[in-house]
Amino acid sequence: MDHLPVFLTLRDRSVLVVGAGESAARKARLLRRAGARIHIVAPQANAELSALARQGAVTLHLRPFEPADLRDRAAVWAATGRPAVDETVAAAARARALPVNVVDRPDLSNFIMPAIIDRNPIIVAVSSGGAAPVLARRIRAQLERTLPARLGHLARFAGRFRSAAKASLPAGLPRLRFWEGVFDGPIAAAVLAGEEAQASERMLLAVNRNAPSGQRPEGIVHLVGAGPGDPDLLTLRALHLLQTADVIVHDRLIGPDILDYARRDAKRIYVGKAAGKPSLAQADINALLLRHAEAGQRVVRLKGGDPFVFGRGGEEMNYLRQRGITVEVVPGITAALGCAAAAGVPLTQRGVSSAVTFVTGHGRAGEPDVDWSALASPSHTLVIYMAAGRARSVAARLIEHGLAGTTPAAIIENGTRPEQQVWTGCLGTLRDQRPRLGADGPALIVVGQVAARAQSAIAVAAPFAQAG
Ligand code: SAH
Repeated sequence: MDHLPVFLTLRDRSVLVVGAGESAARKARLLRRAGARIHIVAPQANAELSALARQGAVTLHLRPFEPADLRDRAAVWAATGRPAVDETVAAAARARALPVNVVDRPDLSNFIMPAIIDRNPIIVAVSSGGAAPVLARRIRAQLERTLPARLGHLARFAGRFRSAAKASLPAGLPRLRFWEGVFDGPIAAAVLAGEEAQASERMLLAVNRNAPSGQRPEGIVHLVGAGPGDPDLLTLRALHLLQTADVIVHDRLIGPDILDYARRDAKRIYVGKAAGKPSLAQADINALLLRHAEAGQRVVRLKGGDPFVFGRGGEEMNYLRQRGITVEVVPGITAALGCAAAAGVPLTQRGVSSAVTFVTGHGRAGEPDVDWSALASPSHTLVIYMAAGRARSVAARLIEHGLAGTTPAAIIENGTRPEQQVWTGCLGTLRDQRPRLGADGPALIVVGQVAARAQSAIAVAAPFAQAG
């Protein structure tokens, strides 16, 4: 090991930065986060550092560096970008045995700066010892993706219970097992899901019972939006949950590409339509989620798009919460947004469309309960979900309620996926012909002036069946 990683305490300690350009400003930002009292020496300062000095966040000395500037400093950064000056600062600091870092000059530095992941109080530092800073930054980016955003909350949460756990559990293995149970189990999952109040209750019970989750382990259900299909559109939270779930319950809209990102040994349960068999009834899905959560498992209920947009996420959430199960809802990119982006359709546009409505083409008993007259307006974009097979009747209703037959319309099938297909036309053709799109994959219809923009990355093969 060429460098020993240590974490420096700089709160309320005085540090020196020589230089006041962009790279000095980067150091100053970091040092502020560490609570240091920052002195900056440079003949001129950039706008950011001047502004910070006016707010009193840093002390600016607008003159060249002098060795006396090093007095009483805890550490020194040279970031002038001028080799002669940086070398003078480094030599003077080393002569006083001060820790000194020269930006991009490990040869002049007696400590180096790592790439940092800040989930305070959890801090991860990655260093290549100056050999390959870009590689270190890539490693940081990979870690960033896998560490949950609320990791710092979890560490602080655990910190609050440290002395209680110490008091009620013998040191050594029992206490170690206790904390492992906390971090691997539903208590940590609840904190990371933002349900700290519930987690605290469970934690109190657990500390008092000397066991992280007592006799009956309690699970959690995450209702996770998986987006419209392209795995790149998963949220970081969704990705993280997929990689830590015990059980993944998914349906027809979730493609294999998305499941490739899931933990290999997670149990996968398909609740969509299989060949010849109908999909599970909602009541059966609810019961399945409950059963696994009650068995103490971390369940990811993976839904296409967003769980709260035509996804019955609300029903599942209510059912589970009424039965005392912790539920977290993780939003996803809903099909309308994904498809619009993939087909180049701005859903609103100044002077063209001032509103957008997401509406279902499919009601409980077939024909949806939709007030078409309220929606039939030329400056309004409509995105109709679940309209496959109903394109003609939807178009007919909109024309009946006053929209011109020439109003542009588009159908986007398998939006954001490699098989995406796009049809463009107008309400009149939609009503009188029978676009075939929607037969092979999920499809939605966009109606309004903006739909004329829809374009396909790939050619549309035979967009129409025979009229009739
Ligand atoms: N919760 C989902 C919608 C579920 S309803 C969401 O927020 O996107 C199912 C309907 O969504 C389908 O009938 C179709 O209209 C639409 N849909 C979902 N994924 C789609 C995709 N990749 N391309 C086109 N439409 C899609």
